[in-house]
Amino acid sequence: MAKTKMIIDCDTGVDDALAISYILANPDIEFLGISTTFGNVSVDQSVKNSLLLLEMFHREDVKVYRGMEHNWKSDSYYRDPRLDDIHGRNGIGNVDLGEPKRKAEDICAVDFIVDCARKYGEDLHVVFVGPLTNFGECVKKDPEAMKRINITIMGGALTVQGNRDIYSEANIFDDPVAAKYVFGSEAHINVIPLDVTLKTLFKVSDIKEWKEINEAGKNLYEIARFYYVNEYQDEETGGAMHDPLAAFASYDPSIITNWFRCNLTVEENGRMIGTFRELNLPEKRHSVALDVDAKRFTETYIELVTRMIKDL
Ligand code: CA
Repeated sequence: MAKTKMIIDCDTGVDDALAISYILANPDIEFLGISTTFGNVSVDQSVKNSLLLLEMFHREDVKVYRGMEHNWKSDSYYRDPRLDDIHGRNGIGNVDLGEPKRKAEDICAVDFIVDCARKYGEDLHVVFVGPLTNFGECVKKDPEAMKRINITIMGGALTVQGNRDIYSEANIFDDPVAAKYVFGSEAHINVIPLDVTLKTLFKVSDIKEWKEINEAGKNLYEIARFYYVNEYQDEETGGAMHDPLAAFASYDPSIITNWFRCNLTVEENGRMIGTFRELNLPEKRHSVALDVDAKRFTETYIELVTRMIKDL
C-alpha cells in the first residue's frame, strides 16, 4: 500500500515537536516536509526548532520551509510572554539543542504547499497546527488545488471554552482573519479542536522510559516534561496532545469517534462557531472532532515514538 504523503505546518513549540515526532515515527507516512509559521515562537525560531528536531532524529532528508511572519491583521509578530511558561523561551522547553547545520529551503512554505497540492491532489495530507496564515495564503494562491487535498487543522473549541480566553483557542485567536477566510473557502477541513485534544493527556510517567534510551529520547522527554509541568503544574495531571492528535487523525481519521459535520466561521473575538446562514445547507465543508479513542491514540503514539527512539 502506498504511504500517506504528509506535510505539517507548525509554529514549532512543544506539542508541535511531539507531532513531528509522530510523523517521523510512523513508517506508513511519507514525510514531504515541514512548513513553518509564527505562533508559539517567531517563524525563524520555528524553522530553527524544526531543523534541530530533524537532526536529533537523524532525518536530514526532511526539508523545512519558512512561511508567514505575522498574522493578517498586524504587520509584526508579537509573542505573548506567557508562552515562556508553556513552551519555554525557545519553544522547546528551554532544552538547548545547539545550532542547526542546515537552513530552510529557498522556496517559501506557501509555494511548497501549493506545489505539492497541485502535484499530489487527493493523495496529499496537510496538517496545520499553528495559526492559519500560511493556509490562508495557499487558498489565495490556488483555491482549486487546496479544495482537492486532505486538510486537518488543530484549532478552535466548539463545545468547551477556549484556552486563550473563554471564547477562543490559541491557533484561531492568533489569526482570526485568516481562519475566517479559510473556513469561508471551498476547502474541506477536518477540525481537531480542544473538545478532543483536552481528552488526550499524557502524563510524565507515560514517557519516562524515553529518557533512559539515548540522548534524543532524553531531549524529547525533557521538552515534553517542561510543558506538562509548567502548563499543568503537575506531572501526573497530564498535558494535552493538541498537535500530535491532529497529525494522527490526518493519517487515521477513525481515531475520532464522533465527527460533527457543519459549516464554520470565526467571529472577531476569535470564537469558532457554525454559520447561521449555512445551517440548513445539505453540503457541509467541515468535520469537527467531538470525541476520540484516547486510549488507542495514547498507546499507539507512545509505542511508535518509543520504537523510533530505540532504533536511532
Ligand atoms: Ca502548534
